[in-house]
Parts: sequence; C-alpha cells; structure tokens
Amino acid sequence: MAKPAFTTHTGMVDILPGEVEKWQYVETIIRKTAKLFHFHEIRTPIMEQTELIARGVGQLTDIVSKEMFAFDRGDDHYVLRPEGTAPVARAFTEHHLEQRGGTQKLFYMGPMFRAERPQKGRQRQFHQFGAEILGSAHPLADAEIIAFMIYVYKEIGLLNFTLKLNSVGDPESRKKYKQVLQDYLRPNLSKLSKISQQRFETNPMRILDSKEEEDQPFIADAPVITDYLNEDCAEHYQQVKCYLDDLNIHYEEDPRLVRGLDYYTKTAFELVSPDLGSQDALGAGGRYDLLVEEIGGRKTPAVGFAAGIERLLIACEALNINLGTTPDVDVYIVTYGDNAREWALKHVEVIRNAGFSCTLDYAARSMKSQMKDADREGARFAIIVGEDELKSDKFTFRDMAESAEASLNFDDILERLNDKLD
Ligand code: AMP
Repeated sequence: MAKPAFTTHTGMVDILPGEVEKWQYVETIIRKTAKLFHFHEIRTPIMEQTELIARGVGQLTDIVSKEMFAFDRGDDHYVLRPEGTAPVARAFTEHHLEQRGGTQKLFYMGPMFRAERPQKGRQRQFHQFGAEILGSAHPLADAEIIAFMIYVYKEIGLLNFTLKLNSVGDPESRKKYKQVLQDYLRPNLSKLSKISQQRFETNPMRILDSKEEEDQPFIADAPVITDYLNEDCAEHYQQVKCYLDDLNIHYEEDPRLVRGLDYYTKTAFELVSPDLGSQDALGAGGRYDLLVEEIGGRKTPAVGFAAGIERLLIACEALNINLGTTPDVDVYIVTYGDNAREWALKHVEVIRNAGFSCTLDYAARSMKSQMKDADREGARFAIIVGEDELKSDKFTFRDMAESAEASLNFDDILERLNDKLD
C-alpha cells in the first residue's frame, strides 16, 4: 500500500517555480528602494524570546494573547516571530546600534508567523517587508517612512490604494481620551459585542477597531482621539500632514484607525487596497517612541512600517500587473550516446563560464523528447550532439524560435551566442 503523502500545515504555503520569480522581482524592488532611501538591511533570527514579543507587542493584543507559535525547550521560551519591529528594536538595543551615531535606518524582509484562521490574504506563515527609523522624534522621519512604503508600490505599478492616517497620541493624551471614550460607551456597554465589553476596561481604543456588527452604531458616533491630543502630539500630527502634502502623498484622515499593536504613539497609518477583499491592508505602521525603552533599551523615538508581500502579490494579480515569469534558458544541449553526454557535461561549463545559462538532458531520452523538453524550457538555442558530430567536430546549432540550423564548431557556436544574446 502506498504510504500517506505529507502536506504543509494549515496556513503554510509553498512558493513554487513560476510563482517564485514574482517574489524575486518584488524583493529586487524592495532592495532597490531601500538603497535609494539609504536604509540598511538587518536580518534577525526567526525565533525570539517569548517575553520580548509579549512585552514589545503587548499582552492584550491578539498577536500575543492568541496567535503566537511558542514553545519551551529547557528553561528557554521560544516564539516564532510574529512581526519584525520588536526583533529589530531588540537587535538595536542588544548591539548598541545608537553608538554608530546618527539615526539608524533599517529595513528587513522575511517570514513571520501568526496562528490565525487562514483565509485569502491571511496565512500562518506570511512574509513582510518593513523599515524602521530609530533615534528620530522628528515628523520628517514619519514622512520618510511613509514615502518609502509608497515608493515600493509605485515602482511595482500598484497605484490603486488609499493611505489612512491618524494620530493615536501619547500616554498623556490617551489617558484623557480613554476616559472620554469610556464615559461615552458606558451607558451602552451591555449592547456592545462580548469582545468589546472585555476591552472596555483594558484597552477601550481597540473597540474602535471592532468589525462586530453590534458595535458599529456606537463606533460611528464615538469621540475621536484627534480632539484630545496634547500640544506636542497635535503639532507633530500637523507637521506629518504638512510633509505628506509637500511630497504629494495623498492621505485620508481616519480617526478610528488605532492599530492592533500596543506600542504605537502619535502617527498611525495603514495602506489599504480595494483589490484585496476583506483583508484589505497592504501595509501599516506608525511611531513607537516607547518600545525600545519598554524592552530594556534607552529611550529611543522611532517610526516604522511593515507590509505583507502575499497581499502585494494578490493586488497585483487582481490588477493584471505582470511581475515576471519563469526565465528561459539560453542553451539546451541535446545529446545522443554516452560520448555525447560526456562532451556535453564538459561544454555546459564553458558555456556557463561565458555567461549563458545552459542545461542538458539527465535521462538519456530520445532526441525527439529532448527537443520537446528544450521547447518546454524555453531554450533560445539547442546544440545537438551525436557520434557524427563528435567525429566531424561540427555540431548542429539550432535557433529554436526561427527553426534555423547551422553546422558549426564549438568556438563558432560561442561566437554566435555572443552575437545573438548580448
Ligand atoms: P501588522 O504587523 O499586523 O500591522 O501587519 C502588517 C501587514 O502585514 C498587513 O498589512 C498585511 O499586509 C501583512 N499581514 C499581517 N498579518 C498577515 C497574515 N496573517 N497573512 C498575510 N499577511 C499578513
């Protein structure tokens, strides 16, 4: 009896040839953008200490309370990283990156893990790219972070999005606002959804984020945080808007944008796309002036964003944006007989060293099926080698597109390749 075949875990996705080329293209654009904005790449481990994420992201967030892939080994508590900001802030603190002087501008990309219910645009292993500016409290940094994020989408040709903007204030502004919000909601507390009732004491601002039907009428008329910002936060918000105007970056103010993560202060933003369905956020971010201190570092103002690569690809597909296909191969060597295969093995190397991609048949198949294979692989040229060719030292060089053939020695073939493929 056949053995049972394995599959991936729910919400974990293979990225196969044909698809992976799109990823490579997007990754190239991200790297190019980072270079243009002068951000340096940082790579942190995929596993962090559970406590870092709990403290950094916040005990009451969905991520920490129910979505962590965490396990213990001996006395160590491991978690598969659910996001990139807390790890970057940890690395910044651990390696004293502030000692390099100036503002640290970092970017990353890679897999993140959250035990969510999978659906379109929501996986358990997904990929984010993101950028962080650590060490600047200035609203210019907020504007640059938003500009970086948007630059990537524009480079890709994905222009159908809305930037939502808000300020979530600082602890002082929030304290005042929380009270106002609780006072407003209290008379109707019993009519709110269960989850919102739970959040009422601990994190009432998250109620504004609720998707529950019964909460909507109360959310619509709720007081907004931007009316309760202290002078510093209000001024900062005003400046960010002013800089975005200078950059011609269009935004919509959304006073109900609170974001799920606890560490945000002042600026919060989200990039949403109408081409994504219910999970409509391409990316999001904000200022997090309290995080570095919260995880044991020195007080360090910072701002950053994270964006999902899967969602970027979904939006591109919906808009028919072509991101690249499986690359063709320059040369396919078709062989007949053992001597020909030996010749081919030596000469693929010469062809590759000359800078052309080259492959050959590994299964001693018939010439006919090798020619078919060359076609399927998109070979531009085929070199056909059999006993006669080896004897005469002249090989059939076939232009696959034009179905034209010539009998040439190997040096002439290299010359032709140089002429035609450069
Ligand atoms: P967050 O870290 O929750 O602010 O998410 C930032 C971005 O990461 C989102 O806007 C999505 O594009 C992406 N993202 C977050 N969670 C998932 C997930 N479970 N699956 C796919 N993409 C995700």
